[in-house]
Amino acid sequence: MSTLPEKVRILVVGAGFAGLGAAIKLDEAGEHDFVVVDKGETVGGTWRDNTYPGAACDVPSQLYSFSFAPNPSWSRSFSPQPEIQAYLEDVARTSGVLDRFHFGVSVTGAAWDETDRVWTVDTSAGTVVADVLISGSGGLSEPKLPEIDGIEDFRGEIFHSAQWNHDVDLTGKRVAVIGTGASAIQIIPSIVEKVAHLDVYQRTAPWVMPRHDRAYTGIERLGFRFVPGFQKLYRTAIYWGRETFVPAFTWQPKIATPAKLAALKNIERGIADPELRAKVTPDFEIGCKRILISNTYYPALARSSTTLVTDRIASITPTGIVTTDGTEREVDCIIVATGFYTTDQPIAHGIKGRDGRTLADVWAEHGMASYKGTTTRGFPNLFQIVGANTGLGHSSMVFIIESQIAYILSALATMKERGVAAVEPTQQAQDAWNTDLQRRMKRTVWSTGGCASWYLDEHGRNTTLWPRTTFTFRSQLKRFDLDAYDTITKELAS
Ligand code: NAP
Repeated sequence: MSTLPEKVRILVVGAGFAGLGAAIKLDEAGEHDFVVVDKGETVGGTWRDNTYPGAACDVPSQLYSFSFAPNPSWSRSFSPQPEIQAYLEDVARTSGVLDRFHFGVSVTGAAWDETDRVWTVDTSAGTVVADVLISGSGGLSEPKLPEIDGIEDFRGEIFHSAQWNHDVDLTGKRVAVIGTGASAIQIIPSIVEKVAHLDVYQRTAPWVMPRHDRAYTGIERLGFRFVPGFQKLYRTAIYWGRETFVPAFTWQPKIATPAKLAALKNIERGIADPELRAKVTPDFEIGCKRILISNTYYPALARSSTTLVTDRIASITPTGIVTTDGTEREVDCIIVATGFYTTDQPIAHGIKGRDGRTLADVWAEHGMASYKGTTTRGFPNLFQIVGANTGLGHSSMVFIIESQIAYILSALATMKERGVAAVEPTQQAQDAWNTDLQRRMKRTVWSTGGCASWYLDEHGRNTTLWPRTTFTFRSQLKRFDLDAYDTITKELAS
């Protein structure tokens, strides 16, 4: 691999869907002077890192892929992780931009230089000066370990779902899984048959709908490959089908009653024991937390070799887990499936803006807030992909990512056309954007559904999700709106 240049026009952080997509589109737009850095050894981001057994996407593959790189080879409606990773590697290989990717390089800090109007970015491979910084480091990239007394003293194997230790053979072992979120409910059915005993530590029962997954037929796959427009038709139908879920999340949770009934039926189908059924029945509105999908989770909990523990964890000893009722359950291995830093992203602590404060400092008071989830007051020429309030409860993040990439390209083109060296959203534009978001947020099921979730920050504000349709997001970011920005022209900058 070539050495990291000292100066570049655009530095992209992260080589997941966001960074890879940005690199391809930058190149297509004639912006060849860029590099992409990633702490990992290949592209893929979260799909490279999450290799736990059973990892798969719960958004259909036809939609969970780049619009500009359809994949006729998807084997099923919901792709497993290895297929998504292979897809991303394939897209990268054929894109012609991989020569500008630098793997095994972590960003340790970045600071805006107000005199030279550039970003000085410190990385594990040296310092890079860039006019524009694009962060595609992802909302779910930093594993969150629970703060449990004694966790560091555990003498068996312990690892996070996103850092699966494939050297550990779970066969015949006593295993504990902490958490019952999207990752855990995929892991549990995948390991339950091989372990001697499984303890599942549930803090909150999630809503789990049936998973309508199936292998594509040979005819369908031929159609995807050879019939023009056939795959696009699938994608479009899935897209619009998913958009119909939006009113239930953002306006009237009662619309989700059929989904709730299907989820309750899923419990009935998978579990016969009334006591266990009661334990797994959620006590909040469906949609308030991410809706999960699985046909195998409840049957895995119902097995005689599984114990669902709903007492809170008090501590971890060198040999097991103790709950608040005083029971200690000895285990050989603990799988920590407790999620990620979402509202307090570690990268925010390393990016220093115009006045020397980090994104984390600026957001400490009122929570994450940006303009269009992409740019932030005080941080000129910083573009975040999957920034504040861009997450989805119903559809594909790749759609959001492509919308943001288009906005960034439009910004770069506008800057070139108008001779602008730096752009930064006005405080007024940013405040108006967030006031509107938070007003809309009030009536969403994420606020009214009676749950605590990673969507909300410590102030109780939802700073992670987009509370409208995805086509509205796309139309809002269609063109770069220079009038919402303060600018520095090139003459002034020089
Ligand atoms: P998550 O949804 O945040 O779930 C974390 C789980 O750990 C929750 O059940 C949580 O309980 C529990 N937990 C956290 N701290 C705990 C503690 N100290 N003691 C006991 N339990 C604790 O994390 P995730 O499952 O890794 O999923 C994160 C996100 O990744 C998902 O929402 C989704 O966006 C994405 N994801 C997607 C897929 C997919 O497409 N199939 C798969 C995996 C992940 P509480 O509910 O009580 O907080």
